Parts: sequence; C-alpha cells; structure tokens
Amino acid sequence: MKRCDLCDCLAKLYCESNEANLCWQCDTYVHSANLLAAKHSRTLLCHVCQSLTPWTGTGPQLVPTVSGCNSCVSNLSCKEERSSEAGDHVGDNIDVDEEE
Ligand SMILES: [Zn+2]
Ligand SMILES: [Zn+2]
Ligand SMILES: [Zn+2]
Repeated sequence: MKRCDLCDCLAKLYCESNEANLCWQCDTYVHSANLLAAKHSRTLLCHVCQSLTPWTGTGPQLVPTVSGCNSCVSNLSCKEERSSEAGDHVGDNIDVDEEE
C-alpha cells in the first residue's frame, strides 16, 4: 500500500515534481501553496492496486475522482463490482474526462 508522504493516509496520487505520494487533502495543501506548485502534473493512482493510471491533472486543487489503471479498469468492466469505500467521501463532484 502506498501512503501519503505527509499524513500517512492512503495515497491517491503521485506528484512527479515532488516525487511524493499524496492524498487529496495534502495534494491541495502542497499545490495551492504557490503558482509554481500548482503547475505540477500529478498522476492519479489506481483506486484498486495503486499503480499509476493514465489520468493526470494540474492546478491548485484536483477534484477527487476514482480512477483505475488499465488492467483494473478492464477487470472491473467485466465484473461490474461496485465496492463503496468506507470513510472516503468523494462527493457528487466526480468529473473524469474519458478521453481516448
Ligand atoms: Zn496526506
Ligand atoms: Zn507537486
Ligand atoms: Zn489497478
């Protein structure tokens, strides 16, 4: 399990510039600090296996999304299993750009 380098909870994304695994909260904290930090490109981690996904984002704050790596996404599309993560309030702001 990858953990957030700052607060030790589950890592949700990886910042290449910082070489750090971060959760949503710490991502916002770190990347809203200044304009340069907001330009960091962050790669979302798969919510199943925590490997890097094709999804990236920049800006002071990333909208929390559930993302999967290629292998997990293809697995899930067969099984249609929807596991609700306890204590993980994603909200109804899910905004994934599904670009090919
Ligand atoms: Zn954190
Ligand atoms: Zn960063
Ligand atoms: Zn995965």
